[in-house]
Amino acid sequence: MLSLYSTLEGKKEEFKPITPKKVGMYVCGPTVYDYGHLGHARTYLAFDLLHRLLRYQGYEVNYVQNITDVGHLVNDSESGVDKIKQKAQETGESPGDIVRRYTEAHFKDLRDLNILQPTTSPKASENIKEIIDFVEVLLHKKFAYVTDLGNVYFSVARKSDYGKLSRRGVAEILTGTRVESAQDKRSSTDFALWKAAPHGNTEMTWESPWGRGFPGWHIECSAMSQKYLGDTFDIHGAAVEHVFPHHENEIAQSEAATDKPMANYWVHSGMLTINGSKMSKSTRNTVTVQDALKTYSSNEIRLAMYLTHYRKPFDFTKQAMQQGVALRGKLFSAYASDLPEKTAPEVLEEVIAALEDDLDSPRALQVWSEGALKFNRADSDQLFAIFGLSYIRIEEIPRAKQLAQEREQARSSKDFLTADNRKAEIAQMGFEVLDAEGGTVYLPH
Ligand SMILES: [Zn+2]
Repeated sequence: MLSLYSTLEGKKEEFKPITPKKVGMYVCGPTVYDYGHLGHARTYLAFDLLHRLLRYQGYEVNYVQNITDVGHLVNDSESGVDKIKQKAQETGESPGDIVRRYTEAHFKDLRDLNILQPTTSPKASENIKEIIDFVEVLLHKKFAYVTDLGNVYFSVARKSDYGKLSRRGVAEILTGTRVESAQDKRSSTDFALWKAAPHGNTEMTWESPWGRGFPGWHIECSAMSQKYLGDTFDIHGAAVEHVFPHHENEIAQSEAATDKPMANYWVHSGMLTINGSKMSKSTRNTVTVQDALKTYSSNEIRLAMYLTHYRKPFDFTKQAMQQGVALRGKLFSAYASDLPEKTAPEVLEEVIAALEDDLDSPRALQVWSEGALKFNRADSDQLFAIFGLSYIRIEEIPRAKQLAQEREQARSSKDFLTADNRKAEIAQMGFEVLDAEGGTVYLPH
């Protein structure tokens, strides 16, 4: 029985899908104006584990993860510059070039981290009609208003349960967070659904009933989740920093439009720090996914992150990564050893039970690593799949296999120089060579 902690309820709850054996899951995707960093990796890896567990349990998962290619303003603010346009100005490229490059980079990050592709990755710019229709519904139901400047805002005062996800009242939002007042807003807590384009600016702007403009960031997710998953879907996820304002605003928009719950489980992954500090470009305390992959394999990154529960903060340190490296070595050595015909019945159950308990991956990994030699090959393969660990055995690569044979021959004829050279070549291909008492083990990579 799977249980998930839902931020909206503030507690763990048994997972009950809307449709038996099917799950609709929406996870807020990246704003494509820069390379993905480890914070993104952490979020997508948390939901990849959930995705893989659901599939293991036999669910057909419709996983939607959007691409924000317009409308996300700098500092998540209500006024200011679009992040993508700003980047385009900095580099002298077109916004289209920026979007293309970083969308591709995002998918490469997913592939390189062995993250299963979402079922659909809709782009905001390709769903403008749906967004406009959504805003029309909110205007019709008087949850939104148009101003003389051609902006459309959501009227927070009209939604009596606004603040229910982040558990803050409007008064607290006004005093506790940075809200910017635009001159044409009725209240400073109101947020933009549609922004008028600066005069004569046709780049990344569209015609609408309120004049030329572009959508707000929050409305994109309400419109696209409804289009691909319906009014109410099972799981809505993202990193915890999106609880407010992004998800608070999504839930307000969607539930105002449909009078139905937007999602049944609101799942949020914890933040990522680097050596104890928040990631920040200004202090250069940031690590891209590709930079991390120069030092660690995707298996090591995955295991290091999964050794911390997904809701807790993960601190990226050398020590934390070394734990991932060590665990990978342990699991792969066990896999390369003689495994029993049958798995000891209690161990697999224990691993799955830990994962079903709100994805308790640290406990699951502990049980797996302590009992790694008790799993047969098929069940080990299952666990590799659930944790998204990829491996290639030396037998699968003819050149590596041949080098291994040459090394064995050289060793038996005491030609240690050749043996060492072959070992180095094999290592270069990514395999680890362990000479144990029972013979040599070539760890998969
Ligand atoms: Zn979103």
